Amino acid sequence: MAKRDYYEILGVDRNASEAEIKKAYRKLAIKYHPDKNSGDPAAEDKFKEAAEAYEVLSNTEKRERYDRFGHEGMKGGAGGMNMDDIFSQFGDIFGGGGNPFESFFGGGGGGRTRRRKGSNLRIKLKLSLEEMATGAEKKIKVNRLVAADGATFKTCSSCQGTGQVRKVVNTMLGQMVSSSTCPTCGGSGQIVDNLPPGANSQGLEPKEEVISIKIPAGVSDGMQLSMSGKGNEAPNGGPAGDLLILIEEIEHDHLKRDGNNVVYDLYVSFIDAALGSDVEIPTLEGKVKIKIAAGTQSGKVLRLRGKGIKDLNGYGTGDQLIHVNVWTPKSLTKDEKQVLEDLRSSNNFKPNPGKNEKGFFERMKEYF
Ligand SMILES: [Zn+2]
Repeated sequence: MAKRDYYEILGVDRNASEAEIKKAYRKLAIKYHPDKNSGDPAAEDKFKEAAEAYEVLSNTEKRERYDRFGHEGMKGGAGGMNMDDIFSQFGDIFGGGGNPFESFFGGGGGGRTRRRKGSNLRIKLKLSLEEMATGAEKKIKVNRLVAADGATFKTCSSCQGTGQVRKVVNTMLGQMVSSSTCPTCGGSGQIVDNLPPGANSQGLEPKEEVISIKIPAGVSDGMQLSMSGKGNEAPNGGPAGDLLILIEEIEHDHLKRDGNNVVYDLYVSFIDAALGSDVEIPTLEGKVKIKIAAGTQSGKVLRLRGKGIKDLNGYGTGDQLIHVNVWTPKSLTKDEKQVLEDLRSSNNFKPNPGKNEKGFFERMKEYF
Protein backbone atom coordinates (compact mmCIF):
# COMPACT_ATOMS: atom_id res chain seq x y z
CA MET A 1 0.00 0.00 0.00
CA ALA A 2 1.34 3.44 -0.87
CA LYS A 3 2.23 5.53 2.14
CA ARG A 4 0.01 8.54 2.75
CA ASP A 5 1.44 11.99 3.06
CA TYR A 6 2.15 12.87 6.70
CA TYR A 7 0.48 16.27 6.43
CA GLU A 8 -2.60 14.67 4.91
CA ILE A 9 -2.73 12.09 7.71
CA LEU A 10 -2.76 14.80 10.36
CA GLY A 11 -5.03 17.02 8.26
CA VAL A 12 -2.77 20.06 8.48
CA ASP A 13 -1.23 22.13 5.73
CA ARG A 14 2.45 22.16 4.93
CA ASN A 15 3.12 25.40 6.78
CA ALA A 16 1.41 24.21 9.96
CA SER A 17 3.06 25.40 13.15
CA GLU A 18 4.36 23.04 15.80
CA ALA A 19 1.34 23.80 17.95
CA GLU A 20 -1.10 23.04 15.12
CA ILE A 21 0.60 19.73 14.43
CA LYS A 22 0.47 18.79 18.09
CA LYS A 23 -3.18 19.71 18.34
CA ALA A 24 -4.11 17.76 15.21
CA TYR A 25 -2.26 14.70 16.45
CA ARG A 26 -3.82 14.91 19.90
CA LYS A 27 -7.27 14.82 18.31
CA LEU A 28 -6.47 11.77 16.18
CA ALA A 29 -4.75 9.97 19.04
CA ILE A 30 -7.87 10.31 21.14
CA LYS A 31 -10.18 9.32 18.30
CA TYR A 32 -8.29 6.17 17.33
CA HIS A 33 -6.90 5.18 20.72
CA PRO A 34 -7.01 1.37 21.14
CA ASP A 35 -8.79 1.63 24.48
CA LYS A 36 -11.67 3.30 22.72
CA ASN A 37 -11.64 1.08 19.63
CA SER A 38 -10.73 -2.27 21.04
CA GLY A 39 -10.67 -5.02 18.46
CA ASP A 40 -10.85 -2.64 15.51
CA PRO A 41 -7.69 -3.16 13.44
CA ALA A 42 -8.53 -0.25 11.11
CA ALA A 43 -8.51 2.13 14.08
CA GLU A 44 -5.23 0.68 15.27
CA ASP A 45 -3.69 1.27 11.84
CA LYS A 46 -4.90 4.85 11.86
CA PHE A 47 -3.55 5.28 15.37
CA LYS A 48 -0.12 4.05 14.33
CA GLU A 49 -0.15 6.05 11.11
CA ALA A 50 -0.91 9.26 13.01
CA ALA A 51 1.81 8.52 15.56
CA GLU A 52 4.36 8.01 12.80
CA ALA A 53 3.33 11.23 11.06
CA TYR A 54 3.61 13.10 14.33
CA GLU A 55 6.96 11.53 15.15
CA VAL A 56 8.37 12.99 11.92
CA LEU A 57 6.58 16.33 11.70
CA SER A 58 7.19 17.24 15.35
CA ASN A 59 10.93 16.95 14.89
CA THR A 60 12.45 19.91 13.04
CA GLU A 61 15.26 17.91 11.49
CA LYS A 62 13.05 15.01 10.38
CA ARG A 63 10.39 17.35 9.10
CA GLU A 64 12.91 19.18 6.95
CA ARG A 65 14.17 15.90 5.55
CA TYR A 66 10.61 14.75 4.86
CA ASP A 67 9.75 18.06 3.16
CA ARG A 68 12.74 17.70 0.86
CA PHE A 69 12.75 14.00 0.11
CA GLY A 70 9.32 12.68 1.10
CA HIS A 71 9.02 9.14 2.41
CA GLU A 72 12.21 8.21 0.54
CA GLY A 73 14.17 10.46 2.87
CA MET A 74 12.82 8.73 5.94
CA LYS A 75 14.10 5.24 5.13
CA GLY A 76 15.29 3.58 8.29
CA GLY A 77 14.21 6.61 10.27
CA ALA A 78 10.56 6.71 11.18
CA GLY A 79 8.19 3.87 10.61
CA GLY A 80 7.65 0.63 12.42
CA MET A 81 6.81 2.37 15.67
CA ASN A 82 5.51 -0.06 18.21
CA MET A 83 2.81 0.68 20.75
CA ASP A 84 5.36 1.29 23.52
CA ASP A 85 7.03 3.99 21.44
CA ILE A 86 3.68 5.59 20.77
CA PHE A 87 2.64 5.61 24.38
CA SER A 88 5.98 6.97 25.48
CA GLN A 89 5.39 9.86 23.05
CA PHE A 90 2.26 10.80 24.99
CA GLY A 91 4.12 12.33 27.93
CA ASP A 92 5.15 15.01 25.48
CA ILE A 93 1.74 15.47 23.88
CA PHE A 94 -0.53 15.49 26.86
CA GLY A 95 1.92 16.84 29.41
CA GLY A 96 2.34 15.91 33.03
CA GLY A 97 0.96 12.49 33.74
CA GLY A 98 1.61 10.97 30.34
CA ASN A 99 -1.16 8.78 29.03
CA PRO A 100 -4.49 10.64 29.30
CA PHE A 101 -6.54 7.63 28.44
CA GLU A 102 -6.30 6.07 31.80
CA SER A 103 -8.39 8.93 33.06
CA PHE A 104 -10.69 9.17 30.04
CA PHE A 105 -11.36 5.52 29.69
CA GLY A 106 -10.65 4.19 33.12
CA GLY A 107 -7.70 2.17 31.85
CA GLY A 108 -9.91 -0.89 31.59
CA GLY A 109 -10.23 -3.43 28.85
CA GLY A 110 -6.82 -3.04 27.30
CA GLY A 111 -5.03 -5.26 29.74
CA ARG A 112 -1.83 -3.38 29.06
CA THR A 113 0.46 -3.31 32.04
CA ARG A 114 2.44 -0.18 32.66
CA ARG A 115 5.97 -1.29 33.03
CA ARG A 116 8.29 1.59 32.93
CA LYS A 117 10.79 1.31 30.10
CA GLY A 118 14.37 2.49 30.38
CA SER A 119 15.35 5.54 28.39
CA ASN A 120 16.82 5.29 24.91
CA LEU A 121 20.51 5.73 24.39
CA ARG A 122 21.74 7.59 21.31
CA ILE A 123 25.11 7.25 19.66
CA LYS A 124 26.70 8.34 16.39
CA LEU A 125 28.58 5.83 14.31
CA LYS A 126 30.96 6.90 11.55
CA LEU A 127 31.26 4.48 8.64
CA SER A 128 33.40 4.46 5.52
CA LEU A 129 31.78 4.09 2.13
CA GLU A 130 33.32 0.62 1.91
CA GLU A 131 31.61 -0.40 5.15
CA MET A 132 28.29 0.97 3.96
CA ALA A 133 28.63 -0.89 0.67
CA THR A 134 28.99 -4.35 2.12
CA GLY A 135 27.80 -4.03 5.70
CA ALA A 136 30.01 -4.26 8.74
CA GLU A 137 30.21 -5.53 12.24
CA LYS A 138 31.34 -2.87 14.69
CA LYS A 139 32.23 -3.15 18.32
CA ILE A 140 31.59 0.10 20.13
CA LYS A 141 31.84 1.30 23.67
CA VAL A 142 28.67 2.74 25.16
CA ASN A 143 27.94 4.14 28.56
CA ARG A 144 24.66 2.58 29.66
CA LEU A 145 22.73 3.13 32.84
CA VAL A 146 22.35 -0.24 34.53
CA ALA A 147 20.80 -1.32 37.79
CA ALA A 148 23.29 -0.55 40.55
CA ASP A 149 24.45 -3.44 42.69
CA GLY A 150 22.81 -3.21 46.08
CA ALA A 151 20.00 -0.89 45.06
CA THR A 152 16.80 -2.11 46.71
CA PHE A 153 13.24 -0.99 46.23
CA LYS A 154 10.14 -0.79 48.38
CA THR A 155 6.48 -0.27 47.69
CA CYS A 156 5.63 3.35 46.98
CA SER A 157 3.57 4.75 49.82
CA SER A 158 1.88 7.45 47.71
CA CYS A 159 0.08 4.89 45.55
CA GLN A 160 0.46 1.71 47.61
CA GLY A 161 2.29 0.10 44.72
CA THR A 162 -0.43 0.56 42.11
CA GLY A 163 1.52 3.23 40.21
CA GLN A 164 -1.67 5.27 39.92
CA VAL A 165 -3.14 8.05 42.01
CA ARG A 166 -6.83 8.89 41.87
CA LYS A 167 -8.49 12.22 42.17
CA VAL A 168 -11.86 13.74 41.37
CA VAL A 169 -11.79 16.27 38.56
CA ASN A 170 -14.43 18.51 37.01
CA THR A 171 -14.80 18.01 33.28
CA MET A 172 -17.25 19.11 30.62
CA LEU A 173 -19.14 15.93 31.29
CA GLY A 174 -19.39 16.55 35.01
CA GLN A 175 -17.32 15.12 37.81
CA MET A 176 -15.08 12.22 36.92
CA VAL A 177 -12.72 10.15 38.94
CA SER A 178 -9.41 10.40 37.25
CA SER A 179 -6.41 8.23 37.83
CA SER A 180 -3.05 9.33 36.69
CA THR A 181 0.51 8.15 36.96
CA CYS A 182 1.85 8.43 40.49
CA PRO A 183 4.30 11.34 40.57
CA THR A 184 6.31 9.83 43.42
CA CYS A 185 7.31 6.59 41.72
CA GLY A 186 6.64 7.55 38.11
CA GLY A 187 4.13 4.69 37.74
CA SER A 188 6.36 1.78 38.69
CA GLY A 189 4.76 1.37 42.13
CA GLN A 190 8.22 1.06 43.67
CA ILE A 191 10.66 3.55 45.06
CA VAL A 192 14.33 3.19 45.89
CA ASP A 193 14.89 1.97 49.42
CA ASN A 194 18.65 1.67 49.59
CA LEU A 195 20.77 3.72 47.23
CA PRO A 196 24.38 2.53 46.92
CA PRO A 197 27.05 5.19 46.34
CA GLY A 198 27.41 6.14 42.66
CA ALA A 199 23.79 5.30 41.83
CA ASN A 200 21.34 7.96 40.71
CA SER A 201 17.97 8.55 42.33
CA GLN A 202 16.45 5.73 40.27
CA GLY A 203 18.98 3.18 41.47
CA LEU A 204 20.89 3.17 38.19
CA GLU A 205 24.57 3.70 37.58
CA PRO A 206 26.59 4.24 34.39
CA LYS A 207 28.56 1.29 33.12
CA GLU A 208 30.82 1.07 30.10
CA GLU A 209 29.92 -1.82 27.85
CA VAL A 210 31.19 -3.00 24.49
CA ILE A 211 28.32 -3.70 22.16
CA SER A 212 28.63 -5.48 18.86
CA ILE A 213 26.52 -3.88 16.15
CA LYS A 214 25.76 -5.54 12.84
CA ILE A 215 25.40 -2.87 10.17
CA PRO A 216 23.46 -4.07 7.12
CA ALA A 217 24.83 -3.29 3.66
CA GLY A 218 23.34 -0.20 2.03
CA VAL A 219 22.88 2.11 5.01
CA SER A 220 23.44 5.79 4.32
CA ASP A 221 24.34 9.01 6.05
CA GLY A 222 21.62 10.24 8.40
CA MET A 223 19.92 6.88 8.85
CA GLN A 224 19.08 5.70 12.31
CA LEU A 225 19.27 2.07 13.35
CA SER A 226 17.73 0.83 16.52
CA MET A 227 18.73 -2.07 18.78
CA SER A 228 15.90 -2.99 21.02
CA GLY A 229 16.77 -3.42 24.70
CA LYS A 230 20.34 -2.12 24.38
CA GLY A 231 19.55 1.31 25.80
CA ASN A 232 19.47 2.27 29.46
CA GLU A 233 18.03 -0.20 31.91
CA ALA A 234 14.79 0.69 33.63
CA PRO A 235 14.55 1.39 37.32
CA ASN A 236 13.60 -1.75 39.22
CA GLY A 237 13.59 -4.31 36.46
CA GLY A 238 11.40 -2.86 33.70
CA PRO A 239 12.42 -3.44 30.09
CA ALA A 240 15.58 -1.62 28.96
CA GLY A 241 15.30 1.21 26.43
CA ASP A 242 16.67 1.03 22.91
CA LEU A 243 20.06 1.90 21.53
CA LEU A 244 19.62 4.35 18.64
CA ILE A 245 22.53 4.47 16.23
CA LEU A 246 22.83 7.46 13.92
CA ILE A 247 24.92 6.65 10.84
CA GLU A 248 27.44 9.18 9.59
CA GLU A 249 29.41 8.78 6.37
CA ILE A 250 33.16 9.36 6.43
CA GLU A 251 34.04 11.24 3.27
CA HIS A 252 35.84 9.01 0.76
CA ASP A 253 39.12 10.20 -0.71
CA HIS A 254 38.10 9.50 -4.31
CA LEU A 255 34.50 8.36 -4.58
CA LYS A 256 31.23 10.18 -4.12
CA ARG A 257 27.98 8.43 -3.37
CA ASP A 258 24.86 8.96 -5.45
CA GLY A 259 22.07 6.71 -4.19
CA ASN A 260 23.44 3.20 -4.55
CA ASN A 261 25.93 4.28 -7.21
CA VAL A 262 29.37 5.67 -6.60
CA VAL A 263 30.83 8.27 -8.90
CA TYR A 264 34.49 8.74 -9.74
CA ASP A 265 35.90 11.73 -11.58
CA LEU A 266 38.69 10.53 -13.84
CA TYR A 267 41.12 12.96 -15.46
CA VAL A 268 43.00 11.76 -18.53
CA SER A 269 45.46 13.65 -20.66
CA PHE A 270 44.43 14.78 -24.08
CA ILE A 271 47.00 12.36 -25.49
CA ASP A 272 45.55 9.36 -23.63
CA ALA A 273 42.04 10.31 -24.73
CA ALA A 274 43.12 10.60 -28.36
CA LEU A 275 45.35 7.51 -28.54
CA GLY A 276 43.56 5.35 -25.98
CA SER A 277 45.18 3.97 -22.84
CA ASP A 278 44.83 1.74 -19.78
CA VAL A 279 44.30 3.57 -16.50
CA GLU A 280 44.05 2.37 -12.94
CA ILE A 281 41.14 3.67 -10.92
CA PRO A 282 40.01 3.20 -7.32
CA THR A 283 36.82 1.25 -6.55
CA LEU A 284 35.25 0.24 -3.27
CA GLU A 285 37.01 -3.13 -3.68
CA GLY A 286 40.46 -1.76 -4.49
CA LYS A 287 42.11 -0.62 -7.69
CA VAL A 288 41.05 -1.90 -11.11
CA LYS A 289 42.39 -1.28 -14.61
CA ILE A 290 40.04 0.10 -17.23
CA LYS A 291 40.49 0.84 -20.91
CA ILE A 292 40.06 4.31 -22.29
CA ALA A 293 39.18 3.87 -25.96
CA ALA A 294 40.98 5.93 -28.60
CA GLY A 295 38.91 9.01 -29.42
CA THR A 296 37.18 9.24 -26.01
CA GLN A 297 35.42 12.57 -25.52
CA SER A 298 35.55 14.59 -22.36
CA GLY A 299 32.35 14.09 -20.35
CA LYS A 300 31.89 10.45 -21.31
CA VAL A 301 30.51 8.30 -18.51
CA LEU A 302 31.73 4.73 -18.17
CA ARG A 303 29.92 2.23 -16.00
CA LEU A 304 31.33 -0.58 -13.88
CA ARG A 305 28.33 -2.76 -13.13
CA GLY A 306 27.83 -3.97 -9.60
CA LYS A 307 30.75 -1.99 -8.21
CA GLY A 308 28.49 0.32 -6.23
CA ILE A 309 26.60 -0.14 -2.99
CA LYS A 310 24.28 -3.01 -2.13
CA ASP A 311 20.69 -1.95 -1.81
CA LEU A 312 19.46 -1.87 1.77
CA ASN A 313 16.25 -3.66 0.83
CA GLY A 314 17.97 -6.23 -1.33
CA TYR A 315 17.18 -4.68 -4.72
CA GLY A 316 20.53 -5.47 -6.29
CA THR A 317 23.75 -3.52 -6.17
CA GLY A 318 24.58 -0.10 -7.59
CA ASP A 319 27.26 0.66 -10.17
CA GLN A 320 30.39 2.72 -10.26
CA LEU A 321 30.14 5.53 -12.78
CA ILE A 322 33.35 6.94 -14.15
CA HIS A 323 33.11 10.46 -15.38
CA VAL A 324 35.89 11.07 -17.91
CA ASN A 325 37.40 14.55 -17.94
CA VAL A 326 40.01 15.35 -20.58
CA TRP A 327 42.72 17.47 -19.02
CA THR A 328 43.81 20.51 -20.95
CA PRO A 329 47.41 21.60 -20.16
CA LYS A 330 47.44 24.87 -18.26
CA SER A 331 50.89 25.86 -19.47
CA LEU A 332 53.15 24.74 -22.30
CA THR A 333 56.85 24.94 -23.10
CA LYS A 334 57.98 26.48 -26.31
CA ASP A 335 58.57 23.09 -27.93
CA GLU A 336 55.16 21.80 -26.86
CA LYS A 337 53.53 24.89 -28.29
CA GLN A 338 55.31 24.29 -31.57
CA VAL A 339 54.04 20.70 -31.81
CA LEU A 340 50.49 21.83 -31.15
CA GLU A 341 50.70 24.78 -33.53
CA ASP A 342 51.64 22.29 -36.24
CA LEU A 343 48.47 20.33 -35.46
CA ARG A 344 46.15 23.31 -35.24
CA SER A 345 45.21 23.36 -38.86
CA SER A 346 44.78 19.58 -39.14
CA ASN A 347 41.17 18.69 -39.93
CA ASN A 348 41.09 15.86 -37.39
CA PHE A 349 41.58 18.38 -34.60
CA LYS A 350 38.60 20.51 -35.47
CA PRO A 351 35.52 19.78 -33.32
CA ASN A 352 32.93 18.01 -35.41
CA PRO A 353 30.25 16.58 -33.09
CA GLY A 354 27.85 14.22 -34.85
CA LYS A 355 24.13 13.80 -34.21
CA ASN A 356 24.77 10.86 -31.91
CA GLU A 357 27.31 12.74 -29.81
CA LYS A 358 25.61 13.00 -26.44
CA GLY A 359 25.47 16.41 -24.85
CA PHE A 360 25.49 17.11 -21.16
CA PHE A 361 21.72 16.86 -20.68
CA GLU A 362 21.29 13.56 -22.50
CA ARG A 363 24.05 12.07 -20.37
CA MET A 364 22.43 13.28 -17.20
CA LYS A 365 19.13 11.73 -18.25
CA GLU A 366 20.79 8.46 -19.01
CA TYR A 367 22.71 8.06 -15.79
CA PHE A 368 20.87 9.84 -13.01
ZN1 LIG B 1 3.71 5.56 43.57
